[in-house]
Amino acid sequence: MYDVTIIGSGPAGLGAALYLQRAGFRVLIIEKEYEGAGQVEKGVRIENYLGIPAISGYELGEKFRNHVLSYGAPFLEAEAVALRHKQHWEVLLADGKTIESEALIYAAGAVPRRLGVKGEAEYLGRGVSYCAFCDGSLYRQKTVAVVGGGDAALDDALYLSNICGKVFLVHRRKQFRGAYTTLKKIIKRENIEILTEIQITEICGRKKVEQVELNNGNRLKIDGLFIAIGSIPETEAARGFVQLDESGYIRAAENGVTQSEGLFAAGDVRTKKLRQVITAVADGANAATSATEWLRHKLEQEGK
Ligand code: NAP
Repeated sequence: MYDVTIIGSGPAGLGAALYLQRAGFRVLIIEKEYEGAGQVEKGVRIENYLGIPAISGYELGEKFRNHVLSYGAPFLEAEAVALRHKQHWEVLLADGKTIESEALIYAAGAVPRRLGVKGEAEYLGRGVSYCAFCDGSLYRQKTVAVVGGGDAALDDALYLSNICGKVFLVHRRKQFRGAYTTLKKIIKRENIEILTEIQITEICGRKKVEQVELNNGNRLKIDGLFIAIGSIPETEAARGFVQLDESGYIRAAENGVTQSEGLFAAGDVRTKKLRQVITAVADGANAATSATEWLRHKLEQEGK
């Protein structure tokens, strides 16, 4: 029996683990991938983590993990498939085992929605990116395309237009879903070209991305492709214990408190505006603090 089980070993889960261990709690971290540190490891180069001017996602993930390991928290490689709550929390694992704890921090993350075209997986990190804020500066004065029509794609296009020489904004429909105010700014930018009712059918290149094929028979010569077509939060295991917003994220404020006593959400899986490594780490610390207060109050009530 643990004090807190943390589901997810990304920056949010590891941030929470660090705070909880330092507060003296017995913690278990459940990780889906062996020695994984979540999406951060997939980031090619991170230049916006305060205090570290530039680092590969893999290296930063390792630093997070080693920091947590220095406090001795155990990791368990397993997939959490469901939760149960009786006197305390139970996490049901895919292999049929169960983990018990007083509190739970759910930090299972979100995965970027894939475009599903040829070349997408092959060129990931070699011209294909799901994060303009993380990788945009690698394309200074170069030509890039952003695909998507929501707020993320519009924000990305505007952000990249400050860095890149040319930005194509490619959207499959005529109407954009994202904010009109942002779209108006985009229209005014001379280095952004909007292509609507167009889909990318293939990403091509030799060692890295060189062009994309379009469904109208044309092609765009680009150095980078930013895919911003939404993300898919990993909420399945928490089903029934949390409320989801209209996009499928767990409704929880910055303190991580959910509708269920003793269950806290942190990181990309919760409703928030900016999904970045730095905000995920902060979420972990906040959820850990909420869990600490909740556990101390519970122990006090139980006279322990
Ligand atoms: P989103 O609003 O779900 O938009 C996804 C976009 O990608 C849509 O335009 C969609 O096209 C397109 N798309 C989906 N699948 C596609 C595919 N297979 N091929 C081509 N296009 C595809 O996602 P989001 O932009 O990531 O935003 C998610 C949430 O975060 C939203 O609630 C958004 O308002 C919020 N957010 C807010 C801000 C901000 O306030 N500045 C910034 C970022 C995100 P269709 O339009 O045709 O469906």
